[in-house]
Amino acid sequence: MNDKSLESILHEPRVFNPAAAFTAAARISPADYERLAAEAARDYEGYWARLARETLDWQRPFTTVLDSSQAPNYRWFTDGRLNASVNCLDVHLAERGGKTAIVFESEPGEVRRLSYRELTAAVCRLANALQAQGIGAGDRVVIYLPMVPEAVVAMQACARIGAVHSVVFGGFSAKSLRERIEDAGARLVITADGGRRAGRLVELKAATDEALAGSCPTVEKVIVLRHAGNAVAMQAGRDLWWSDATAGQPESCAPAVVDAEHPLFLLYTSGSTGRPKGIQHATGGFLLGAKLTSQWIFDLRDSDVFWCTADVGWVTGHTYVAYGPLAAGATIVMYEGAPVHPDAGRFWSICERHGVTIFYTAPTAIRALMKFGDVIPAQYDLSKLRLLGTVGEPINPEAWIWYHKHIGRERCPIVDTWWQTETGATMIAPLPGAIATKPGSCTRPIPGIDAAVVDEDGREITDVEHGGYLVIRKPWPSMLRTIWGDNARYIRTYWEKFGGRYYVAGDTAHRDDDGYFWVMGRADDVLKVSGHRLGTMEVESAFVAHPRVAETAVVGRPHDVKGEAICAFVVLKGERPTGAAAEQLAGELRDWVGHELGAIAKPDDVRFADNLPKTRSGKIMRRLLRAVARGEEITEDVSTLENPAIIEQLRGKA
Ligand code: ATP
Ligand code: MG
Repeated sequence: MNDKSLESILHEPRVFNPAAAFTAAARISPADYERLAAEAARDYEGYWARLARETLDWQRPFTTVLDSSQAPNYRWFTDGRLNASVNCLDVHLAERGGKTAIVFESEPGEVRRLSYRELTAAVCRLANALQAQGIGAGDRVVIYLPMVPEAVVAMQACARIGAVHSVVFGGFSAKSLRERIEDAGARLVITADGGRRAGRLVELKAATDEALAGSCPTVEKVIVLRHAGNAVAMQAGRDLWWSDATAGQPESCAPAVVDAEHPLFLLYTSGSTGRPKGIQHATGGFLLGAKLTSQWIFDLRDSDVFWCTADVGWVTGHTYVAYGPLAAGATIVMYEGAPVHPDAGRFWSICERHGVTIFYTAPTAIRALMKFGDVIPAQYDLSKLRLLGTVGEPINPEAWIWYHKHIGRERCPIVDTWWQTETGATMIAPLPGAIATKPGSCTRPIPGIDAAVVDEDGREITDVEHGGYLVIRKPWPSMLRTIWGDNARYIRTYWEKFGGRYYVAGDTAHRDDDGYFWVMGRADDVLKVSGHRLGTMEVESAFVAHPRVAETAVVGRPHDVKGEAICAFVVLKGERPTGAAAEQLAGELRDWVGHELGAIAKPDDVRFADNLPKTRSGKIMRRLLRAVARGEEITEDVSTLENPAIIEQLRGKA
């Protein structure tokens, strides 16, 4: 028993080596990987300086690499100057101006393509329009748009003139939008009449009007994209149509060359933990992380069609839609709509029709599609796919295997990428030509990222049976710079626990014999059973390994003898059982998990549900389930949930 660390009880023995042909053609070979890791270990700052010089286009080269004088507010490449949109657009015009930058597909099936030249022209016209409205460097612009090319245009246009964008997910309510506009002190909002999702209209302009009514005094103008065609009210003097604002604006716009540390964007984390935090990223460091990891982890080539399914409202939609792959000159796919509309084959149909070669999505989507079975993906030609990725939550080994078999057809490496809004870019993930993968592990840190697992006292845990806090021991270029308007909260949240020595991610993990990292869950969700501390991921993965289980969330509830008892909420692949059938299956699953992991992890309660409460980005909200399991009242705002109605179903059975 050890009260300073977690116990790891799940053993996943399967290993997948990259195919020799993949390795032979990969950007980063096993030897490259070793060389990079050795270089970073030998000369950390020199390593990042070299990569920054070789990867980005600097208008003024930097001489300072890392400035630690205000630690933990680290600064990188401080005297360098550059522009992010130049690095994503202008640099490609000579060689690949006519190449498709964005393939867009709407939910009803409209397809639009924008070449790098067309995208640059659209960005410049909007940048000029923003300037005509008095927006300049440092001003905050809130972007509240559906997943359409104009969302990328708007982000890049802000970057072009040094304005700081803050994208708010189009599914968020007027209240969430208002909080974010107010916190950022935005001068301008870019929105659309409406968006489309699962056959429904999402009235974005109406929500914007509601957010601004009687509040947000800093907002002077609202630019409205005509997209869904629904009727909207335009407020004279404040609102103008995108098409009018950009009419007559030239297709070129001199970029604002900014300091590397100039804020590129704010992005509020999904806020599952109280007041949303405006994570602030810097231009140079962020862009370096975004481009480099796009090239290394996704092995991006000129011939690739890259589809990251994340919405631009999340960090994944920043790093791996709007910036990284464009900086790398790739073709990206954007899809506005639901994954199961009109049916569960939509993702695979898009992959087939647009010849997607690299596909990157979240475990929640994989588990949801898995529920529909293997027959659907088998109907599509997925032969162009060569690499798969996942992000957002730990992926249960059985979901990984399903993805590998039925989507990757046992041919495509899977990159399980661990990172956060705060880290700006992927931190731990396999470089696919160099690192063998194991289902459920994000494998090894990117060369130059000093990740470790430490116990309650900050001591590194090296034995394979134990886990602890996932920390980063050295600053890295794409790290967050602060929390907008609240630096004390930045220090408290990420640095205080170990006296400023380590960045504390808030996740738990353990390492195996090969030094691979296995994320075990969130530090706040650790289960404490009879003196044993367990991560949620291992228990949930044991459930998902049962043939009838699609998805599970486990939480602790107080128990007189054990301290905490494990309570599991289970979603099955088929119908939800009731009565005696439910009791029988619950008993079978308890025994199954007890057999897989040992008696200590055997859950006390197993409850069946049609779904689990999720954030808008699809992550399970265990905090809410904890309240349900304990029979406590739910005090928080559940309107930011993807599916608030599910709480009632879960509570009815409590
Ligand atoms: P909030 O901080 O507001 O609660 P969030 O943490 O869900 O929101 P993100 O920054 O989008 O917001 O998500 C980062 C978190 O997602 C990580 O801290 C981790 O818990 C989880 N995560 C992301 N990728 C992986 C992965 N590959 N494996 C395991 N966990 C992952
Ligand atoms: Mg977080």
